[in-house]
Amino acid sequence: MTARRIDGKTLSAQVRTEVAARAAALTASGRQPALAVILVGGDPASQVYVRNKIAACKQAGIRSIHETYGAELREGELLARIHALNQDDGVHGILVQLPLPPHINAQRVIEAISPRKDVDGFHVANAGALMVGQPGFRPCTPLGCMRMLEHVGMSNLRGKHAVVVGRSNIVGKPMALMLLGADATVTIAHSGTPDLAATCRQADVLVAAAGKPRMITGSMIKPGAVVIDVGINRLPDGTLCGDVDFASAEGVADWITPVPGGVGPMTIAMLLANTVQACEQY
Ligand code: NDP
Repeated sequence: MTARRIDGKTLSAQVRTEVAARAAALTASGRQPALAVILVGGDPASQVYVRNKIAACKQAGIRSIHETYGAELREGELLARIHALNQDDGVHGILVQLPLPPHINAQRVIEAISPRKDVDGFHVANAGALMVGQPGFRPCTPLGCMRMLEHVGMSNLRGKHAVVVGRSNIVGKPMALMLLGADATVTIAHSGTPDLAATCRQADVLVAAAGKPRMITGSMIKPGAVVIDVGINRLPDGTLCGDVDFASAEGVADWITPVPGGVGPMTIAMLLANTVQACEQY
């Protein structure tokens, strides 16, 4: 058996087309959706992510406000800027690219963003809303993964076991809660999980978000599982790979996401969707 691929490029293009239509309708009514993207410091990967987000906004008809500051920016100055953007009725979404320089408290910065404009879904108000199943902004990466599951007919996971490898606040934990919301039985695995292979082999849906290149091999996958690979790892030769060893996994899984071209493009598409939603609700 060779796994079928969940094509994040094609699926994200569909989402972006839907988002562009909603953005156009808002613009026609005199309210163009706008996203403020703040970058602090010169981290090269962050610069690429920000550039991609801004280009995606433009393509979808979303106005972007791009603010770049040096790594020496003081936390108070950043908080003041966020407060100003919170007050600005022409701005519907605010995103502060992480990581921030070590002298800035990232959680304090996230909490300064108005929950109504928190299109990354990292504010405690939105994290809490996810926890209790109330409407709110959901983090873009897990939201994109859920959209991929929906695409392969896995939106109702009652009777299915989902295993998430990784428990970060931006991917692992919200992913687990979203899977729980879809009625799955959920296990969260992390660096302290004994016999990770046996845990993973129980998964009908396996989400790999550990940041470890190719750590999930075919022998750790239940035959016929859906495998979502969130990992983006750059190898010494410059190429990208996921947390899943694609070559051995595709012989075991039923569906699998490639890296690149899987979850990555979905994350940006869901950011655009959240921004348009923020404008619609404003
Ligand atoms: P973090 O480093 O914050 O979290 C990694 C998680 O994996 C931790 O919970 C850690 O466990 C767990 N882990 C690490 N090693 C192991 C192991 N050997 N066995 C089991 N669990 C392990 O990463 P992020 O959540 O921010 O990102 C995860 C990956 O996803 C990265 O590769 C990142 O680049 C990628 N990513 C991709 C995105 C996309 O758009 N496709 C968006 C965001 C991230 P513990 O908690 O015990 O330390």
